[in-house]
Amino acid sequence: MRRTIFEDDHDLFRSSFRQFVDKEIVPNVDRWEKAGVVDRDLFLKAGANGFLGMDVPESLGGGGVKDYRYNMVIGEEVQRAGCGGAGLGLTLHNDICMPYFLHLADEEQQRRWLPGICSGELITAVAMTEPGIGSDLASMTTTAIRDGDDYIVNGSKTFITNGINADLVITAVKTDPSQRHKGMSLLVLERGMDGFERGRNLEKVGLHSQDTAELFFTDVRVPVANRLGEEGTGFLGLVSNLPQERLSIAVAGVAAARAAFDWTLAYCKERQAFGQPIGSFQNSRFTLAEMQTEIEIGQAFVDRCVEALNAGELTAEEASMAKWWCTELQGRVIDAGVQLHGGYGYMTEYPIGRAYADARITRIYGGTTEIMKEIIGRSLGV
Ligand SMILES: Cc1cc2nc3c(=O)[nH]c(=O)nc-3n(C[C@H](O)[C@H](O)[C@H](O)COP(=O)(O)OP(=O)(O)OC[C@H]3O[C@@H](n4cnc5c(N)ncnc54)[C@H](O)[C@@H]3O)c2cc1C
Repeated sequence: MRRTIFEDDHDLFRSSFRQFVDKEIVPNVDRWEKAGVVDRDLFLKAGANGFLGMDVPESLGGGGVKDYRYNMVIGEEVQRAGCGGAGLGLTLHNDICMPYFLHLADEEQQRRWLPGICSGELITAVAMTEPGIGSDLASMTTTAIRDGDDYIVNGSKTFITNGINADLVITAVKTDPSQRHKGMSLLVLERGMDGFERGRNLEKVGLHSQDTAELFFTDVRVPVANRLGEEGTGFLGLVSNLPQERLSIAVAGVAAARAAFDWTLAYCKERQAFGQPIGSFQNSRFTLAEMQTEIEIGQAFVDRCVEALNAGELTAEEASMAKWWCTELQGRVIDAGVQLHGGYGYMTEYPIGRAYADARITRIYGGTTEIMKEIIGRSLGV
């Protein structure tokens, strides 16, 4: 279906970002997949070309346009090119970390950090998950105990996206360990702070270009001036940013499904079995028809959610619906695509093979499918 969400400026932005992907990402992906991390200068190049901080005021180095459709274009294009792993760092930086600096940072913090975040000199990450907790965030045990003008931070985080490359890590801590949600605050930990160590770059099933790391904090002295928002409001800060985070994952989910469909359709036209293209078997045609139908349905809902986000109306429940359904869609469509590729679908040299490995996590990170259903279910009064 023709999508009605974009205007001419978004189409121009898409064509310019597509060129950037073809020039700066695609030729490097195999190397980054082996290295387990993208080059830091990917961020510098993205910043120089206007692909970071599109919604940050121009006076602070950004594009000055508050319109999530630009973020959406970036999220879609990296999937279209089969570079979701390499692109995740950029979308995390733009879609997930940026809002903390835009909405929770005070003026001094914004002047200190936003220009570097927009230029790509400062790479960001957000650290909530700990070895012992993920979904049950309020049970976290990393502490930040006030000592004069500083906090002393102790604990650890794991599974942190951009964990190796990050210069600024928005870290969820307990400033009052006797409390659950009300004891949480957000501190920005900076590369080079004494006692802030990176652990392993974790070996994952997929998303191999993406650095996902452990972080360790031993008596890290963090100035109170690095706190985002008031003490004890960390949980609220996280919750207020989660709809956009979840929508970002949903956008990528539909785009990944669409890319998988396109690769599969092309393959079905070309591959022969029993003297005919495999696409001409009724089972293949039905599978392709189902894939395309579901993608169109998912796209319509995600586009509507983006309009709602732009209008300031997207609810936590709607974002949760988009997140669980579109990532489950991604899983279904890519799995069917692998099946239609036969043995070649299991080879990482085929984009569908890599997409299969990359897709599994999207139903887990950013809140699992089960937690999404909990959020929706609770709102129903049952
Ligand atoms: C590649 C990758 C990147 C990530 N990036 C980041 C990042 O940048 N920052 C960050 O902070 N975290 C990150 N994470 C962590 C991710 O968000 C968590 O793994 C996720 O939230 C689930 O937490 P968990 O692993 O502790 O699982 P658990 O919370 O232990 O859940 C295990 C299972 O129990 C189920 N479950 C838990 N509670 C309930 C319930 N109430 N009802 C029903 N079922 C329930 C879950 O759905 C799941 O199936 C990343 C993880 C990965 C693998």
